[in-house]
Amino acid sequence: MATRITEACINCGACEPECPNEAIHPGDPVYVIEPDRCTECVGFHDEEQCQAVCPVACCLPDPERPETEAELLRRATRLHPEAVFGDAFPSRFRRR
Ligand code: SF4
Ligand code: SF4
Repeated sequence: MATRITEACINCGACEPECPNEAIHPGDPVYVIEPDRCTECVGFHDEEQCQAVCPVACCLPDPERPETEAELLRRATRLHPEAVFGDAFPSRFRRR
C-alpha cells in the first residue's frame, strides 16, 4: 500500500528530506507522494518516515493501492539497484 498525504497537510515540508526514495514533493494544494517511488519505507526503516515526522500525522496508507512487502521490496531494489537488502531488511511488516 503506497502511502498518501491527505488534505490535512499543512505544507511544512518536514517529510520531504526524510523519504529514502525521494518520493515526496510539494504539490497543489498539499504535498504529494509519487506512488511508484513509495515503498512504505520497506528496505530502509521499520516505519513510514514521512508519517513519523509529520506534525499532523497525515501520511496514511492508501487503501486504493494494496501492496505486499515483496512488491515493495522489488520497488526498493528497482529504485536502488546498488543496494543490497539481504534477508533482514527493515520493514513495517516486521515491526513488533
Ligand atoms: Fe517515502 Fe517512506 Fe513516506 Fe513512502 S512511506 S513516501 S517511502 S517516507
Ligand atoms: Fe504535509 Fe506532514 Fe509532509 Fe508537513 S510533514 S509537508 S504536514 S505531509
